[in-house]
Amino acid sequence: MFRPDPKPEKKPKVTQFKAIQRRKSKKPMDISTPKKKPVKTVNKRLIDECDKLFSIIVRQSGMNDMGINKCYTCGYPDYWSNLECGHFLSRRHFTTRWDFNNARPQCTNCNVGLSGNIEIYEKKLKTEIGGQVVDELKNKARKRFTYDLRDILLNLKQIAKCG
Ligand SMILES: [Zn+2]
Repeated sequence: MFRPDPKPEKKPKVTQFKAIQRRKSKKPMDISTPKKKPVKTVNKRLIDECDKLFSIIVRQSGMNDMGINKCYTCGYPDYWSNLECGHFLSRRHFTTRWDFNNARPQCTNCNVGLSGNIEIYEKKLKTEIGGQVVDELKNKARKRFTYDLRDILLNLKQIAKCG
């Protein structure tokens, strides 16, 4: 009873469904096209490498012979690798992400707990490098990132060697 009646109706339904399925199955394939993925992976790897090296240089900068450095904003002394690389302007600004004027060693409490302890950070930074340089840094942060990550990494590697 069921079969003969809905048959003519079912046919277009099935083909329609198939068409939708095909369209649906195409979408995720377009997102993960093999062309896009490697580029993103390379960028992520390069960003991670730059971050890692930059962080080591910043945290070791100014440490004593025992490897002890101080938190820039509260003065807490700790072994350099226990300190964090605290950015004055957020890391989301790629133009200043690896700028040495924009990062200092910080304890976890200042960097994470106090969200960078920014008021003291800015005061100290202005005293250290000058208000004009701090303003230039802020302007630089607003600019579009046009550098080549490979150049940044090469530069960091050279600085790490010399230091
Ligand atoms: Zn601190």
